[in-house]
Amino acid sequence: MNVILETSKEDLIEQLAEWGEPAFRAEQILQWVYQHRASDFSRMTNLPKALRERLASNWRICDMEVAVHQATPTRDAEKFVFQLSDKEEIESVVMRYHHGVSLCLSTQVGCSFGCAFCASGAFGFSRNLTVGEIMGQWYRIQQVLDEEDERVTHLVFMGMGEPLANFTNTLTALRRFQDSEKVGISYRRMTLSTVGLIPEIERLAAESLPITLAISLHAPNDYLRSQLMPQVNARYPLKDLIPVCRQYAEKTGRRVTFEYAMMKDVNDHPELARELGVLLGTWPCHVNLIPFNPIDGASFAPSDAGRIAEFEEVLKMMGVSVTVRRSLGRDIEGACGQLRGRRRKT
Ligand code: SF4
Repeated sequence: MNVILETSKEDLIEQLAEWGEPAFRAEQILQWVYQHRASDFSRMTNLPKALRERLASNWRICDMEVAVHQATPTRDAEKFVFQLSDKEEIESVVMRYHHGVSLCLSTQVGCSFGCAFCASGAFGFSRNLTVGEIMGQWYRIQQVLDEEDERVTHLVFMGMGEPLANFTNTLTALRRFQDSEKVGISYRRMTLSTVGLIPEIERLAAESLPITLAISLHAPNDYLRSQLMPQVNARYPLKDLIPVCRQYAEKTGRRVTFEYAMMKDVNDHPELARELGVLLGTWPCHVNLIPFNPIDGASFAPSDAGRIAEFEEVLKMMGVSVTVRRSLGRDIEGACGQLRGRRRKT
């Protein structure tokens, strides 16, 4: 069965031409899917009935279903677990901020990098998501938000998996999300988070898309980073990573964000803040301090608020742009991969 969300406009035109249908039918179908989030072909009332029936027997719009939907009591965060056609599961999270509604997307089933503090890495890697499965997270969630007249305004590629390890599908999805005939979210409202895969950061920079690059840093030196993120840091140590991030900022004109999950007595000492300030310096970059979202079975705990404030103060005094990010979703097992992991254990 073919899937609309997997298919480019050009391929859809070609497939319809084999049925003797004109090219504008593809535009109509894509409009129903992307602009109206039509749940099935029977709703596409400006298509001939025979075509709707033919589509229904040969095509699906989206090949994944919501398996779990949980919201915090205040609805500032909602988590979705999706079941894919091969029964694998992935997670996406909606977060409501004052600036809009942000959707955190997964790009792989599981993850191969095995960072010590991460639920997604704990079960290893299964496979890359297809373009349609990346788009499908938005499509299914936007259908739910449509009921409240809400729209996803920002995208963050920060869910399960490493987006740059699924480079081609992630890049195609970025383009489709930006395409005004499809989703129409500007690149400036997209953030892609990576552990720091240098060749792929360089490939992304060459595309010159004005998306924000976020680096999962979590440590200011290789000794500590190798304990927290052993696989990636062995391949791409900080002395190589930071200059490539600077080049990304120069090439795209977008500042780079460094994500730093604050873990009690692990990476939150003020001396480490000073080390981080020296490592980064004052080029157009920004540090996000994130109170660590604890996961089952991990030996890490969130830093105290006082420690986080002290860490922030040191960076500010060194001229580094820094904010403390609100940690949403603790009530819904907000750390990526956590809810899926719990379902796999039961
Ligand atoms: S932090 Fe990112 S790269 Fe590391 S294991 Fe988790 S999902 Fe993979």
